[in-house]
Amino acid sequence: MTGKYTYREIDESTVYSELEDVFILSPQRLRDICKVFVKEMEKGLENDDCTLKMIPSFVTNRPTGKEVGTYLALDLGGTNFRVCEINLEGQSKVRLRAKKFTIPDSAKTADQSVLFDFLAESIAIFIKEYNINTEKDINLGFTFSFPVQQTALNKGTILLWNKGFNCANSIGKDVVTLLSEALTRKQLKVNVVALVNDTVGTLMSHAYVDPGTCVGVILGTGTNAAYVESAEAIPKWKGGPIKSNEMIINSEWGAFDNERKVLPWNKYDQQQDEQSTNPGKQTYEKMISGMYLGEIVRLVCKDLIERKILFGGMSSTEMDTPGKFETAYMSRIERDHTAELTDTKMVLQEILKIPYVAPRDRRIVRRICELVAIRAARLAACGVAAVVTKMNRVDTGCTVAIDGSVYEHYPHFDNRMRDALHELFGMFSENVSLQLGKDGSGIGAAVIAALADK
Ligand code: ADP
Ligand code: MG
Repeated sequence: MTGKYTYREIDESTVYSELEDVFILSPQRLRDICKVFVKEMEKGLENDDCTLKMIPSFVTNRPTGKEVGTYLALDLGGTNFRVCEINLEGQSKVRLRAKKFTIPDSAKTADQSVLFDFLAESIAIFIKEYNINTEKDINLGFTFSFPVQQTALNKGTILLWNKGFNCANSIGKDVVTLLSEALTRKQLKVNVVALVNDTVGTLMSHAYVDPGTCVGVILGTGTNAAYVESAEAIPKWKGGPIKSNEMIINSEWGAFDNERKVLPWNKYDQQQDEQSTNPGKQTYEKMISGMYLGEIVRLVCKDLIERKILFGGMSSTEMDTPGKFETAYMSRIERDHTAELTDTKMVLQEILKIPYVAPRDRRIVRRICELVAIRAARLAACGVAAVVTKMNRVDTGCTVAIDGSVYEHYPHFDNRMRDALHELFGMFSENVSLQLGKDGSGIGAAVIAALADK
């Protein structure tokens, strides 16, 4: 259909104020969330089976930057799977070669052996293509970014899957054994020496270059964070004395507020949750990360279309399909500074196949993207603020290494987080340095493997 259509009698500013009521977070709300967050972290450090799992990573030393050696790393945890070869050269210098593989959807939800055979096969391809010397066994750090109950540096049982994965016959099994068995089936001489969460990897790889790094955050397909905790603040730790007196904790913060006590959960979040593979779980993650933001925007659009407020009530198969509104489109729309929002029109008309997109429609969609992304950034800042508060570092400051496409590529995400930190900490927010920590999940696994070697 082309041509004009008549809008329902509802003016643009009324639409905006309705959306703002649903999505805007006041400074007071940020403070409330932050306070509950700190309490939940404390609970998780005392007991297992809390909302925040607060998992001891068995990483108890931070790097000096002098570690050296060649390692393999696997990075599995979301959209892409990577095999890397990492050369730690000392003096905080690193060389990295990596190859991306796409995990077939069929391997994400089949028997675990299908997934782990795929991983082993990818390593075999990498070793061949990059001519890796495996005459002496090579050590590998495995970044596995799903909730794992770690029982040693190279041992951990799978607790649950998220981010669209759900492999049969894996819950309660040791993920290092599953990978090692698959490597043996392929006759590869590779030792899995460390099991690493990507948040811990991000922290460790950034600490290799900046010793002030105390927090690692992921803002990608999912969201999570790890930080340096002092040994005496982990009452549930039964693993004996810790020489360094500190332990990196993987918070698994994506599950924050699964009880829905404090987060600004709305009807769109509710719909998103109901259609997800893990309803009732990962509440915080579903409001923040790349796997979900575009979908929230789509659900808001759908609502406005049904109410004939948007696109004259005309939808499309694409707009009606969950997952079709990618978070990357939001980035594109927010980057569109043309007077007529031409690129926004392109996304809506060419990709999402909406028949006619008036300038007013483009402005409304852009505002929806903005509101959803601002809420995400402010919520992410609450998590960072809670961790920094928990570490008692609001005064002394620290570096927070952040990895993931949402943080790296979403326009203004970083500034929106900083604004929220400023609302929470005032001038002390300047003590918290947010830094992009790239390739953390690969390099971090190598750094941890190197520390394990010592
Ligand atoms: P992973 O978390 O799987 O390691 P990434 O950090 O690359 O991988 O995050 C992938 C997620 O980031 C996807 O869910 C995707 O929606 C989102 N994403 C990819 N590109 C962009 C972009 N340009 N802007 C915002 N989000 C993006
Ligand atoms: Mg990643």
